[in-house]
Amino acid sequence: MGAARIIDGKAIAAAVRREVAAGAAALQRERGLTPGLAVVLVGENPASQVYVRSKAKATREAGMLSIEHTLPAETPEAELLALIADLNRRGDVHGILVQLPLPKHIDAGKVIEAIDPAKDVDGFHPVNVGRLASGAKALAPCTPTGCLILAKSVRAELAGLEAVVIGRSNIVGKPMAQLLLGESCTVTVAHSRTRDLPGVVRRGDLVVAAVGRPEMVRGSWIKPGAIVIDVGINRVPAADGKTRLVGDVAYAEAAEVAGAITPVPGGVGPMTIACLLKNTLDAAKAKP
Ligand code: NDP
Repeated sequence: MGAARIIDGKAIAAAVRREVAAGAAALQRERGLTPGLAVVLVGENPASQVYVRSKAKATREAGMLSIEHTLPAETPEAELLALIADLNRRGDVHGILVQLPLPKHIDAGKVIEAIDPAKDVDGFHPVNVGRLASGAKALAPCTPTGCLILAKSVRAELAGLEAVVIGRSNIVGKPMAQLLLGESCTVTVAHSRTRDLPGVVRRGDLVVAAVGRPEMVRGSWIKPGAIVIDVGINRVPAADGKTRLVGDVAYAEAAEVAGAITPVPGGVGPMTIACLLKNTLDAAKAKP
């Protein structure tokens, strides 16, 4: 293995969760307020069930109220919208998260827009997207927020760095680019139509890979000393006939060249839930 510092997402996420727990305890002491997170799951997608369970557990562990709603796959859209309207009104609910993907008969955009932006802890509501883009205070999406914390754990001041974000999804790539712009990086957003991706990535002092293609980013693409944040989670066949998780970056190769790199698993993954808890605490604190 190369010289790169391994960014320990597990340890950093644990520290964020401890800070959130301390913040929640302080809010309880000072204002008698327990931050509450409502998670809504529609249907029986096994991966979603796992996510929802671990989100609920982490919420309770942070000393916050967890409210879970599990609805059958055939739930009409109107019923889901009515539940969201109810959660919007509830004083004990400060964060609302609707687990995606939703069943096909439900318009996800409509559902996201129904959430009170002040409770939109996923940061997907157009009001929060717009606030983030205009540099105003926003609830920002959890995964890119986690990536930023990891990058800053290596280098507190990112201003002036060349940052290359690979991927332009609304969940990761685009908000990541906005957050890095907010840190005064010079940001390039690459995607499937980018010409000479290796050449573009080679410019990056900071590279965030959010593509969904196993080990696509090679070690030879990495600028020596760069900070590499790998968002990808890809399951691939392993030698023993089982499967294993790999990122979007060829880790062993990249670690030979990079200054610091996140592993998969144990890098960005644990940060997403930690940042969800952080957003819930921030939403509760912002309540007048
Ligand atoms: P999407 O599929 O929504 O977006 C993928 C992006 O990668 C698109 O913008 C696409 O470009 C781009 N892309 C695809 N192929 C190439 C290519 N050959 N060269 C350059 N760019 C390419 O994925 P997400 O953003 O939702 O997720 C990305 C990865 O991150 C996935 O592996 C996912 O599992 C993981 N993930 C991990 C999370 C975590 O908590 N750690 C949370 C969320 C996601 P175009 O727009 O042109 O199609």
